[in-house]
Parts: sequence; structure tokens; C-alpha cells
Amino acid sequence: MSLLAVRDLRVTFPTADGLVQAVRGVSFDVEAGQTLGIVGESGSGKTVCTQTLLGLTRGADVSGQALFHGRDLLATRAEELRAVRGAQISTIFQDPLSSLHPHYRVGWQIVEMIRAHRAVGRRLARARAIELLRMVGIPQAETRIDDYPHQFSGGMRQRAMIAMALALEPSLIIADEPTTALDATVQAQILDLLARLRDELGTALIVITHDLGVVADIADTVLVMYAGKVVEVAPRRSAYYEPHHPYTKGLLESIPAAVGARGQLRPIRGQPPSLIAVPSGCAFHPRCRYAMDRCVTDIPELRAIGTGCHRSACWLPEYLVGFGEPVDAERDDAADRAGRHRGQTGGVDGE
Ligand code: SF4
Repeated sequence: MSLLAVRDLRVTFPTADGLVQAVRGVSFDVEAGQTLGIVGESGSGKTVCTQTLLGLTRGADVSGQALFHGRDLLATRAEELRAVRGAQISTIFQDPLSSLHPHYRVGWQIVEMIRAHRAVGRRLARARAIELLRMVGIPQAETRIDDYPHQFSGGMRQRAMIAMALALEPSLIIADEPTTALDATVQAQILDLLARLRDELGTALIVITHDLGVVADIADTVLVMYAGKVVEVAPRRSAYYEPHHPYTKGLLESIPAAVGARGQLRPIRGQPPSLIAVPSGCAFHPRCRYAMDRCVTDIPELRAIGTGCHRSACWLPEYLVGFGEPVDAERDDAADRAGRHRGQTGGVDGE
């Protein structure tokens, strides 16, 4: 049984302008000691998914199931969920300054976190805090524990946040854009640290990011979200070398490091849609350079691509994995397979 099994999660926010369909039937699994990367642009629903699991989307209409250690988080009462947060599932956010209180010393905040959940004395909790700060690579932890957050660099603050997240030995850590506020070298160090701690402690990770490059080395499985739905899910290697969904390809073609030898940097045109008025058919069709007639009317569901657990929600034929434009014959074939009338040509939208 998976550590976390989310099934058909739907989250809708009533607003004055209409219903915001933030998450539209998302399912995924997280295995113990493994890393799931959830990737998508702002507004794709990735953060709402995990915040809903933690009971942090008050006012939303929520349905589905989220079994964590066999217990449905979506059916758990608020006060019981509070005990789960921190102790069994902890979170790391993009900006540690918004999580670390600027008026309190870093160590004091870790100590209070421990004592809020465990019946231990202050001295023992402080010793544990020093041990945690050492574990995450804070030099001279026994003295730096008494620093205030502003006395730490950005990377050190993120390390302190990770120490706090580990304090209660959770079985799952949700890291939401954990490196976005950091420069490239510190970003790599923090990702290395998360991977090392996962391997040493057996903690599962969900890493949420807008940047597919961030989870390139750390994720076991990559799940790509667009307009509140999962559009592709694949083992890391398939996601990077054999993406099928045009949105995944677009995300990769937008990353300079990923484009590398492949050549041209090509941003995805247009903007993510309003989740109050989600486009018909495939929600990505207004931005998709491969869109066909069928894409405007028929919603593609996730289906297997090749062998293994690679799945994509796209009408293109499954052999069109990888990069580069399909040649004309492939385009016609794609259109035929997608249900276009025989003899009709074109249908691939140029940029
Ligand atoms: Fe593009 Fe159509 Fe595939 Fe959607 S279903 S990603 S519009 S080709």
C-alpha cells in the first residue's frame, strides 16, 4: 500500500466571479522513501492539491480521497489534522523568512516546534535542535542556534526550515518551491541535501515546482499538472527524455539547461487559462502547437504511453514521444488517429 494515495481529488472555490475549479480529478501515489515531483505553471493547481490534503483550503468544496497511512485525510477532523501536520507530514515553503518568525531565535523556534508535539524538556529539545542543524549542514550549530533568522543567509534559512521540517521525523515532507528564492548554486546544495536526507531517513518527498529542471535529479516520478488536471505522469527518465504531452515538452523547451544540445529555447505561448472558464476539450488546446479539431471538443484522459507507468492525457499517438516537430506524415497520422475525417490535412497550428 502506498504511503499516500490520492484519488479523484477535486477542489472548487466559490468566488463572486464564479466557481474556481482549482483541482479537477487528480490522482497520484507517493511511496515511502520516494520523491514525487509535481510540476506546472502558476495556477495549475499543484499547491492547492497538497494544501487541501493538509486541511489548509478553508472555504473550498472538496471531494475525493487521500489515504495517508491508510487514513483518509479529507475525512479527518480539523483538530486531528493539526496533529498530522508537522508530526507526520511537514512542509517547506519557498520563502523561509515567511515561515521563520523574525523576532525569535532560530533554535528557539525549532525547540518550540518539538515541544508543541512531544513531551520533552527544553534541554533535550535544544540538544535535538542542535543535532538537526548539524544534520542539515549549519556550521557551528551549537552557537548559530541562538542566531536570529536575519543573521542567516538565504541558503542557511532554508536549511533551518528543513531542520524544522525534520524535527518530528515525519514520513512525508512537502517542499513547495523550496529553491525558487535561492541562487543556482545554493539551489543545487538544497536539493542535494533533501535527496540525502530522504535516502538516510527514508522520508518521502513531494517537491512542487514550476521548473522541471528542479526535479531533474531528485524525483522518482514526475507528475505534470495543467489547469487543475494531471496531463502527464512518468518515471523521471521518461519525463525528461521521452515526454509525450505537448505541455511537458513545452516546459522542457523553456529551460535553457534542458534545451542544451537539443537547440532552440521555445517558451510556451500564451497564458494559463482562468479556472473559472476552463477551455473545452483539452484545456491546453488554445496554446498547443499540435492542436487538432478533436482537441477542442473531446477531453483526453490519461492513458498508457508505451510500457511501464508512463501516462499522458493527449490525443496524439503514443509513438510521438520525445522532441522535435512531427514530420508531415506523422501529423496526418496523428490527425487520423485523433478522429479527423479521412483526407483532411493540416490541423497542426504553426507558431
Ligand atoms: Fe495538444 Fe490536442 Fe494533445 Fe491537447 S490533446 S495537448 S491540444 S494535441
